[in-house]
Amino acid sequence: MHCSGRVMVNRIIAKLFYLSLSRNSLLFRKFRRYQGDSVFNDSEFAKCQKRVKAQLEANSEISFEQGTTKSVLRRLDGRIDKPFFSKEIYTSGSTGEPFKFFVPLRYFGFEWIASRFMWSTHLSDYSLNEPVITFRTHTPKNDQDVFKIDRFQNFYYVSPYHISQLNLDKILNFIIQSKSRIVRGYPSSVYLLADLLNQNAVVLADIRLVVVSSEMFDDIHRNAINSAFPNASICNQYGQNEGVVALFTCRHGKWHNLDYYGKCEISDANAIIGTPFHNKVYPFYKYNTGDLVEQEEKFNCSCGLGSTAGVKAILGRSDDWLFKADGTKVPSTNFTSAIKTIEGIKQYQLIQDINPIKIRALIVLSSSRSFNLELLKGELARCVQNRLGKIQVEVEIVDEILRNRKTNKIKTVIRNE
Ligand SMILES: [Zn+2]
Repeated sequence: MHCSGRVMVNRIIAKLFYLSLSRNSLLFRKFRRYQGDSVFNDSEFAKCQKRVKAQLEANSEISFEQGTTKSVLRRLDGRIDKPFFSKEIYTSGSTGEPFKFFVPLRYFGFEWIASRFMWSTHLSDYSLNEPVITFRTHTPKNDQDVFKIDRFQNFYYVSPYHISQLNLDKILNFIIQSKSRIVRGYPSSVYLLADLLNQNAVVLADIRLVVVSSEMFDDIHRNAINSAFPNASICNQYGQNEGVVALFTCRHGKWHNLDYYGKCEISDANAIIGTPFHNKVYPFYKYNTGDLVEQEEKFNCSCGLGSTAGVKAILGRSDDWLFKADGTKVPSTNFTSAIKTIEGIKQYQLIQDINPIKIRALIVLSSSRSFNLELLKGELARCVQNRLGKIQVEVEIVDEILRNRKTNKIKTVIRNE
């Protein structure tokens, strides 16, 4: 790895800083102390409201009482100067219209620690410096290695594009040599690996924690992971670029909000509304993330993290929905549970064209056994039509479902408008 002397020195300083944070460090203690503590939330919430009001005062036509959304905040573009010690972030969004906002520099360190705090709730002897196998981020160009080691973070990267039977032995060696207990990646990547391990009757008993984020995580993924990594707890992390709220599943599989990070509320329309406590440079207040949930009563969880977030399941972005001919929305999770019962389907993607309305279903077949292809196609078409009504369904067999090159994610549902 080539890097200049100054970058190297900065990295060493940062590394020493991180290493000095033991599990009992101040920040970890703060996360733990404020977990499930609504008193902290309310006072911090009031402070946040005052701050946001001051920030928006110069733009009196913008009402913040109801909270903020992307479209409200877009109107601030150019009217808020970039604060010192902040970074500009752009997101493109599904409409392609860019959205610009600021985060304080400490946001990145905060994110770093927040993730590790989540992991530490699963592994009682978790150490900040322990190795982590990571199936994301590393996408090698032509002749580059499938593997990459980042000694700074102690991350052992495997290219998610190269999870295949051909590379399985190499990947297994890499995992074993890393001595990692933690496997991390998008659900689709970790699932791909787990499925491969299951096909080869390989069990990785030393893996104690599987961390997934950024994509829908469903029972197909969970079952494959449970059998390939029988001793692993699963931590599902939810967040957004805007960094307004962070949720995660505990070792009992229940959703908790990271109270020290931000306040989480659920709107009447079941959307996640977040107010960040760590971002004092941009007026996010009761910000509508557009991510939808299935709600449940909050309860005091026996994992010791206090109250749950009142979220039974995260259903995904509103652009993860498909439409019936009459315009009724159907969340992508409705298909997952049904499609998993069809024998022979390993992976799928539903692509909806709106005009004219139809569905193209791409499927990857599981190689393990033989089955009647026509029967399978008919069953899949029926499964989609049962939920979307009598619309045209084309089933296409493909070798793999392609990742979005920009986001690096695999979506189970795509809507072309
Ligand atoms: Zn819990």
